[in-house]
Amino acid sequence: MHYSERQAQAMLGKHTTYHKESCPLATTDVHENIKNRNWTIENFNYGPLNPDYPNEDFWEKKAELFKTDVCEAMSARCGNCGAFDQTWKVMCCIGGGIGTEEEPYVDPRRVIENANLGYCQLFKFKCAGDRTCDAWIHGGPITDKCEPMPEENMEESQVDGEMSDIIEQLHGASKKHKDQAERLSRLKQQM
Ligand code: SF4
Repeated sequence: MHYSERQAQAMLGKHTTYHKESCPLATTDVHENIKNRNWTIENFNYGPLNPDYPNEDFWEKKAELFKTDVCEAMSARCGNCGAFDQTWKVMCCIGGGIGTEEEPYVDPRRVIENANLGYCQLFKFKCAGDRTCDAWIHGGPITDKCEPMPEENMEESQVDGEMSDIIEQLHGASKKHKDQAERLSRLKQQM
């Protein structure tokens, strides 16, 4: 049986179950994580179990669902899904859920790197970058990467920077130039 994404979220009921103020429950509670993961396996065919295996049957079904070929189906993974969250904040939650300060022998970073872990914002569990599900969304992952500055603002800030440079240079020059620098400063403030 298949559900819409909204229905799926409603059924999972995980919108507000947060362990701490900033950490989703599944990042720190393994039972919650497995519950949500298994639900996604059942309802949205999350998998395959071992992405290193050929899993022809699994990928053929995905290709059929999306009316495409196996090659394209295999390119759509959690790792590039629009719901796959690898922001610093969430990764800290995942790391904190794997090991604590009292467990110096546990290295969450290794686990996270081995599995290319992220947090599925749609189904509320830690998922592996090489797996996928029927609800895959184009455009991910979610990261902290800065968006490029809009061109208009960039030009504005370049002009602003250049004016500041000129003012700086004029301050170190003759009285006439110093006066000009002050005038320019006043003008700049009024902009
Ligand atoms: S991250 Fe995307 S592809 Fe992976 S389980 Fe979540 S919705 Fe599905």
